[in-house]
Amino acid sequence: KLVSREFHPKDSIIRIGDHEIGGDKVHMMAGPCAVESREQIIETAHAVREAGATFLRGGAFKPRTSPYSFQGLEEEGLRYLADARTETGLLVVTEVIDARDVSLVAHYSDILQIGARNMQNFILLKEVAKCGKPVLLKRGPSATLEEWMMAAEYIMDGGNYQVMFCERGIRTFESYTRNTLDLTMVPALHTLSHLPVIVDPSHGTGRWQLVHPMAKAALAAGADGLIVEVHPQPEKAVSDGKQSLTPEKFKLMMDDLAGLSKAL
Ligand code: PEP
Ligand code: MN
Repeated sequence: KLVSREFHPKDSIIRIGDHEIGGDKVHMMAGPCAVESREQIIETAHAVREAGATFLRGGAFKPRTSPYSFQGLEEEGLRYLADARTETGLLVVTEVIDARDVSLVAHYSDILQIGARNMQNFILLKEVAKCGKPVLLKRGPSATLEEWMMAAEYIMDGGNYQVMFCERGIRTFESYTRNTLDLTMVPALHTLSHLPVIVDPSHGTGRWQLVHPMAKAALAAGADGLIVEVHPQPEKAVSDGKQSLTPEKFKLMMDDLAGLSKAL
């Protein structure tokens, strides 16, 4: 299979602009759960860039549990992300939730995120396979390693080899945490596959207090990068405030992680 180490024994490196994901350097992707306004995303972008992030995250299309929750600014949000990229030089990672929006999102974003709830949306996977941009493939909340690798296989089989996995926690019996961050997947994927592995300790825990320690643990396990939610005023965030770091806490975490090189 294309996704397997047998097919490609060396680590795959995904080149985006001047950055290499899957190489020696750990990449930090940070930003709010959702793009809420131009000011909010630009302020956050400056803050996370100064702390050392290389990618800006932010959802313009939001997959929400309730249909009554904020659904995202859609194309307006994509434009604000692109403005933030122009202002800060950060590259953009944002989610696409509908196969009909793939070319729109690919027009504005540097990495297309497939959300956990869409990991086995095969129509969407086949569409991002054709978009020419790297894909961040989140693990489904109840997906096995095999199912997750097969989802990546769909994208590669469709002609797009620029795929990275993102562990974001799975559903277990534990309810203290939003999800159970399954860091075992980092070395397991590195054994079975050549593709880079990113860890999301924000969705993986659901609590900002747990983000920094689990980020450290992810790097110790060999993660190629982290994706972390940061909001200028988490208590006012329209989504995922409880798991969002303030820019100040993000900076403290980044300074602490700076000493840790990628574990191999
Ligand atoms: C997100 O990144 O904000 C998100 C919705 O993530 P997930 O698909 O992992 O729940
Ligand atoms: Mn979120």
